[in-house]
Amino acid sequence: MSRADKLCAERGVRFTPLRRQVLALIWENHEAVKAYDLLELLKPFDPSAKPATVYRALDFLMEQGFIHRVESLNAFIGCSDVGRQHELLLLICDRCHTVEERAASSVMAAVAAEIVSAGFQVRYKALEIHGLCTSCASRQGPAGASGSEGS
Ligand SMILES: [Zn+2]
Ligand SMILES: [Zn+2]
Repeated sequence: MSRADKLCAERGVRFTPLRRQVLALIWENHEAVKAYDLLELLKPFDPSAKPATVYRALDFLMEQGFIHRVESLNAFIGCSDVGRQHELLLLICDRCHTVEERAASSVMAAVAAEIVSAGFQVRYKALEIHGLCTSCASRQGPAGASGSEGS
């Protein structure tokens, strides 16, 4: 959090109490958090919080690179490497919804080269991989081994 304070001061942007609170709530969670859930979590701190308030705070935090949007979950995670410009490779556990952020610079460099050769103009780039995290995978055993799941 002090890292975020310092960066905001350096950049001359306003880190309001509400923005701080939203960031703290996202960082506390190891899972990706949805905007709607954030609104609920925010209520005890600010009963007047509205969806628009939360979205504005989220936009700000994304612009500053403190959080990332997980498009395929429509949710948000705290950045594990704040302050460094980086590409995103996200490993998303479908069981516990933990999202691990990897730098994977060689992978992303290869993706970037492919995009350049296609002459494509990139607006936003993130790779989201779905599956099971190590702890969920070890609890379940080999993926697809059982056909009786969920019955
Ligand atoms: Zn990050
Ligand atoms: Zn998991």
